[in-house]
Amino acid sequence: MIQIAIDGPAGAGKSTVAKEVARRLGINYLDTGAMYRAMAVAVLRRGIEISDHAKVKEALAGIKITVRYTQQEQRVLANGEDLTDFLRTPEATKGSSDIAVIPAVRLELVAIQREVARQYDIVMDGRDIGTYVLPDAKAKFFVVASVKERARRRYLELKKNGVERPLEQLEAEIAARDKTDTEREFAPLRQAADAVLVDTTNMDIDEVVSFVMQKVKEAYPDDL
Ligand code: C5P
Repeated sequence: MIQIAIDGPAGAGKSTVAKEVARRLGINYLDTGAMYRAMAVAVLRRGIEISDHAKVKEALAGIKITVRYTQQEQRVLANGEDLTDFLRTPEATKGSSDIAVIPAVRLELVAIQREVARQYDIVMDGRDIGTYVLPDAKAKFFVVASVKERARRRYLELKKNGVERPLEQLEAEIAARDKTDTEREFAPLRQAADAVLVDTTNMDIDEVVSFVMQKVKEAYPDDL
């Protein structure tokens, strides 16, 4: 089975690269961040504050996250309800990072992620794919970019969708998420020892994709 792990901090371009690599190889792509986002939305909708870890843990038994694909697009559902269109709000973004520190939440979602990788060749992006979810993946990448560049990209992306947010605010939010993601105790964001570091600060998407494709072909010479 082909397993490609793409990790890195928020806004470094992981999902764009992962999606394109999966498309070129004709295999599935799993955006694991969307699963943490969906869990946060489902919990918030129950009126639970994410800082109340005991309540979140209690609610977990009643929340079943599933992933579906429609026209190549990933949809994330909680108890059968499609939450995909609600995953990009500031509340879902902050909530996902806060809920991701809770080990019980991670164990639940990691089990689903490993099951997907057992069934399909996969490109998976996240924070702990190379270190924890798929430690045996033969192709691992750690994609980074400066905070300034990541905030600039997010700014342009939001603007394209008609949302104008101050650049400084985006920069502060990204830095705060980096901190939560790297400092949590359970499966924090860090580069796996066998991951290839890709600094995309001064690279465009095509360059990154070509580089990753080359490395993937070297890692899986018999499968591709
Ligand atoms: O990748 P994305 O920004 O959508 O992820 C949202 C949040 O989910 C991240 O800030 C991170 O805290 C969490 N996450 C995680 N582990 C993953 C994927 C995402 O902790 N594998």
